[in-house]
Amino acid sequence: MRVHDTYSGKLVELPPPPGPVGIYWCGPTVYRRIHVGNALAVTVLPLWLKRWLEHRGYETKVVVNITDINDKIYDAAPGHSAELASDATRWYIEDTDRLGLGRPDVEPTAAETVPEQIALIEQLLAGGFAYEVEGDVYYRVASFPEYGRLSRQRLDAMEEQEPNPLKEDPRDFALWKANKPGEDTWWESPWGKGRPGWHIECSAMSEKYLGTSFEIHGGGLDLKFPHHENEIAQSRALGHGFARIWMHNGMLSMRGTEMHKSIGNDVSLADALDRWGRETLLFFFLTGHWRKPLDYSEETLEQARAQLEGFRNVFRSPSEPVGDWSELEAALDDDFNTPEALAVMHGWRDHELLRRAFGIFGLGSIAEVEEAPAELAALAEARMAARGSKDFAEADRLRGEIEAAGWEVRDVAEAPGYRLVRRS
Ligand SMILES: [Zn+2]
Repeated sequence: MRVHDTYSGKLVELPPPPGPVGIYWCGPTVYRRIHVGNALAVTVLPLWLKRWLEHRGYETKVVVNITDINDKIYDAAPGHSAELASDATRWYIEDTDRLGLGRPDVEPTAAETVPEQIALIEQLLAGGFAYEVEGDVYYRVASFPEYGRLSRQRLDAMEEQEPNPLKEDPRDFALWKANKPGEDTWWESPWGKGRPGWHIECSAMSEKYLGTSFEIHGGGLDLKFPHHENEIAQSRALGHGFARIWMHNGMLSMRGTEMHKSIGNDVSLADALDRWGRETLLFFFLTGHWRKPLDYSEETLEQARAQLEGFRNVFRSPSEPVGDWSELEAALDDDFNTPEALAVMHGWRDHELLRRAFGIFGLGSIAEVEEAPAELAALAEARMAARGSKDFAEADRLRGEIEAAGWEVRDVAEAPGYRLVRRS
């Protein structure tokens, strides 16, 4: 299997099975409910990759961290950030559990890994890669000649990070930040009370659970700079191999604009799951290549729902021995091309093959095409009759009754004119 690596700009081959393949994926910063774009980046992609690699005979270990110390959290809840981080961690687990993909092998939090972060900072100071300024510790970017390689930037054209007039160089970034008024959490350190910078958290958490060299580091494309550039600088300055392959997923957009809380066009994962159900949402993610942007809209989700219904209809028809598993393997082994995999599956009529394929993506449930109970069919018939006599209020009431029982009634052209589908 091979995947596209941002660092080299090439497709890079994974070692032969069983590996092992250690995967670190940057997880959420917990200060609110995650949006549907975060869900793709922090849960769906790493867990699908894990499931596929295991199918291919690999031993995998997937680490997705929880960033519970961060400026965003202090800003969102001045004076009680710890409480917000704890609540938002619980929301994150609840919401992503609803996707039904299982959980990463390890989900470390930044707060529980502070001793490892302090140890890394001490090594960087000892090596001359960092310096202290009034209780802050900064990384000395000029000490690491490879800085900028991942994001392909020239050092002299780089934007300033973590402004502080006492820094040696505007490009230097914080490893440790002295405690400021209003920040309700801090840890003791050799440099006084403070807390780690965001980038050192991920270097420490990945190395703690995967060792100083591992196969894959992933995250959203928006993390390439400065976050991942800084992680590389921190770990490789110490001679650690760190990640061999960098996977950056494309961002979710809405009508062509990237989904961001700051723009106000974000949809929470919880709302997306309420609106579309887990099956349609997961299927929608399958329709996009992980490296490309994907547009979230009524139209694209409706299309996903319709395609999924097409597959359900295959399960409603007799199985036919049409399909070749090796074509699916070829699509996914070549840079995890899920749209290509779907194109292959569209040609299949063999229920067992389709069930196996959907099972890898957590969608085995679509093979279970369930007959609605007779009393719901009766309600649906009554609704048809009410519509026939233009009693739309009664038709709506009956639809509500069906939905309350956990089913959905859809109008279709074929007899009997409706279809009952269990709400997912
Ligand atoms: Zn990270």
